[in-house]
Amino acid sequence: MPQIASFEDVKARRTERQVPTGTAWRTSFIDPDEHNPASAQAFLVEGTAGRVIKPHFHDHDQYQVIVGSDGLMGKHRVTANAVHFSRAHTPYGPIVFGEGMGFLTLRAHRDAGAQYIDDPEKRSKLEAINNRHPFQVTEAPKFPAVASGAAVHAFSEINDEQGLASYSISVAPHAKALAPDPADSNGQYLIVVRGSLAYGGREYKALSVAFVQPQEGRFELVAGAQGLDVLVLHFPRTVAQAATAPQVARGAPGTRVWQCMLCAFVYDEAKGLPDEGIAPGTPWEDVPENWYCPDCSAGKSDFQMALMG
Ligand code: FE
Repeated sequence: MPQIASFEDVKARRTERQVPTGTAWRTSFIDPDEHNPASAQAFLVEGTAGRVIKPHFHDHDQYQVIVGSDGLMGKHRVTANAVHFSRAHTPYGPIVFGEGMGFLTLRAHRDAGAQYIDDPEKRSKLEAINNRHPFQVTEAPKFPAVASGAAVHAFSEINDEQGLASYSISVAPHAKALAPDPADSNGQYLIVVRGSLAYGGREYKALSVAFVQPQEGRFELVAGAQGLDVLVLHFPRTVAQAATAPQVARGAPGTRVWQCMLCAFVYDEAKGLPDEGIAPGTPWEDVPENWYCPDCSAGKSDFQMALMG
């Protein structure tokens, strides 16, 4: 049976602690089974405005869903309901909390917690992992207005050949729809972000979290009187990937591509980074020495020239 919990169900579990940059709260929605590492783990993280979580990585694939207000993920502004996916061993951050911001952390596998890249031991561990395929992406959902029935939006960047996929679904008041089949995934989260979901004789209002195992079939989304906006997040299956052939990096200055060796972010000289004041065609050598990776905060020395494609 799917595991499901609303914030009302779990709010008594909310814990508070002081951290150097403010106050931190954590509320567990779904606890992993201590005897089964391959079990779901979902919790809400909150902080006072200005709280900072340093750049770090995890041993397992992870979704984060922004709730409340906006904040920063690395150099990127993230807004409520934005979805961040990071593959195992992909550093990201820092995360800087805006006023009233929180995020859900969602995993299909128990994880030991954040491993900070300013810790030399963790950084060495990261660099020693063979066949690592760092990947992360943040994408905002679209919830189309629906007068009847349901409308499904598939995220354009959160998908891969191994079952990674995300959807935002709007269901009209009292209408029903089937969620996508989790069979080809490594597990599916449903996040109620507006309205309510009727399930098991109860009504689950925002914010509610459900985890559906791959073999549990398509979840029936039944909307309450205010309708339902739900995020549907599929984890990719864990499949060993073929090693890629070594590529020869070359090219004229202004046309080369540089890649972050920690998180795989790409700096394309031809495109530059206009958002950061770096014009198209700026050679790597002319990127300021104090510039750092927008996704994981690594420095310029952590980048290598790469031949893409
Ligand atoms: Fe990076």
